[in-house]
Amino acid sequence: MFDLEKIIRKNILELKPYSSARDEYSGKSAIFLDANENPFETGYNRYPDPYQRELKKKIAVLKGVAEENIFLGNGSDEPIDLLYRIFCEPRKDNVIIPDPTYGMYEVCANINNVAIKNVSLTANFELDVDRILKQIDENTKLIFLCTPNNPTSNSFKGEDVLKIIENFKTGIVVVDEAYIDFSSVPSLLNKLVEFPNLVVLQTFSKAWGLAGIRLGMAFASPTIVKFFSKVKYPYNINILTQRLALETISTKGDVKNVVKEILEERSGLGKELMKLSYVKGILPSDTNFLMVQVAEPKRLYEYLVDHQIIVRDRSKVHLCMGYIRITIGTPNENNKLLQTMSKFK
Ligand SMILES: *Cc1c(COP(=O)(O)O)cnc(C)c1O
Repeated sequence: MFDLEKIIRKNILELKPYSSARDEYSGKSAIFLDANENPFETGYNRYPDPYQRELKKKIAVLKGVAEENIFLGNGSDEPIDLLYRIFCEPRKDNVIIPDPTYGMYEVCANINNVAIKNVSLTANFELDVDRILKQIDENTKLIFLCTPNNPTSNSFKGEDVLKIIENFKTGIVVVDEAYIDFSSVPSLLNKLVEFPNLVVLQTFSKAWGLAGIRLGMAFASPTIVKFFSKVKYPYNINILTQRLALETISTKGDVKNVVKEILEERSGLGKELMKLSYVKGILPSDTNFLMVQVAEPKRLYEYLVDHQIIVRDRSKVHLCMGYIRITIGTPNENNKLLQTMSKFK
């Protein structure tokens, strides 16, 4: 049986969180003389809602989950760091991270002085489920699964992800769905009720086109969300971000159109790239980027920089020998990339 209290750090279980003015009185329309704010209206003279209630209401409808299942962070980076601070005792606990994957899981482990057990993906970039499960010990608190995965661009097999969630009852499985809007594989959001050890991360940085406002989402059981809120900075999402996200969700409604356009571009760009003699292959992508294997990645990268086109050289990454990572751009940008790449000798 999964027992959340057993895996939360003792100091966090016992933590008395900061109580802000807006915690102690959260009603509306009053004369507010309680937070030492400047009373003269600037549009921004008041502290933001520490729990982003209006925004969470909108996101709950958008995602089909309850408001109690939502934590909002300063990018996904904030919930990633909070997971370490809530669950991992420094210099004692460990986490399991597949390799290769998104780099922030490792950086946050190092910042929090938490040991990492890396488990290589298989040769075709799938999860090595048996080796992951074998690595679990009594101090393993988190397993990170990024699906679709950055940088390999594939979604992991649903049955593999589920098997890990079902077999890890002494810690949390974090499923990072940053690229889910581009994916043909469904989200795990509808499994939250079934699995109290599941945390799903999503973000406004990719499909929503709002990387600049820094807004990430963590979906989890109401109890885990309460611990996120207990440990976060009181006013972690500023007013500008809250307002702009509300406005964007209200006016755009969803990301279907822009995702459709990016997926069409991805398919066209992939076909054209494959015609180049030095392109050896492209990994099947469930994301807004392509992993392209070329003969001379470093020289191609530098050539593209010289032509003011910046891609990511991933050729030194485990299992990614020869690969560069190309984010899908606008039609115009993709055409320029193709023109430039076709002249590479
Ligand atoms: C881009 C990306 C994110 C987004 O991070 P933010 O802090 O929300 O901008 C999260 N996870 C992965 C795997 C990513 O590639």
